[in-house]
Amino acid sequence: YYVESLPENGGVVNLSKDEAGHAIRVMRVQIGDAIELFDGKGYEAAATIESVTRKECVCISQAKLHVPRMPERVTELAVAMPKPERAKEMVERITELGVSKLIPIIADRTQRAPTESVMSKLERVVIEACKQCGRNTLMQIESPIKSSDYFLQSHDGRLVIAHQGDGALSMRDLLVEPKIVAAVGPEGGWTIEEVELAESRGFQRISLGERIYRIETAATVLST
Ligand code: SAM
Repeated sequence: YYVESLPENGGVVNLSKDEAGHAIRVMRVQIGDAIELFDGKGYEAAATIESVTRKECVCISQAKLHVPRMPERVTELAVAMPKPERAKEMVERITELGVSKLIPIIADRTQRAPTESVMSKLERVVIEACKQCGRNTLMQIESPIKSSDYFLQSHDGRLVIAHQGDGALSMRDLLVEPKIVAAVGPEGGWTIEEVELAESRGFQRISLGERIYRIETAATVLST
């Protein structure tokens, strides 16, 4: 279960409303059950359920331990976000595959930027995906940013922009790359101005093959 902060040397932990709901109604936890807690920052703790009511679930946690897991290779994935239902699926996949940070991009051809309520739902999707796959660091989701502002920022790693064309890299070129920063365009594709700006800032075009993928498929391929 996810908790925002774990007591350093163990102690009482009151699960959040969402996590308690899952523990009580889905997992049907009972007093004395052993559970695992994680704080989304790489720490974990074993815990035992102390009390359960219809709405609250309290446990006693042991001291927290730093548990290093597989490092995330894609440190930034900048995506002109698809529609909410597809964004949810994409966030599940890329959290499992190991993206450190998702940056929603407002591209020149973005039709509707994601709303705050969609963004907060996606944070919950990240927590559930971490629990499902045993990831103990949350994927961060940044606030949406205009494509030009994003490309003008400085980024650390191998920079790629998914866009077909002559001379583009392929996924093979990234096989041994330890740190990747990747950008995926909207349904209508990047404008030539966006691609040129990105290239002038060190991004290289990458082709994912001859088929044109949906945003969420392209984002998933780049995260593997
Ligand atoms: N009509 C748009 C075009 O031709 O660019 C299609 C855009 S596609 C639905 C959405 C985004 O996914 C693209 O902007 C690109 O970033 C990425 N993408 C999809 N298929 C790709 C491929 N085969 N190679 C590289 N990028 C791809």
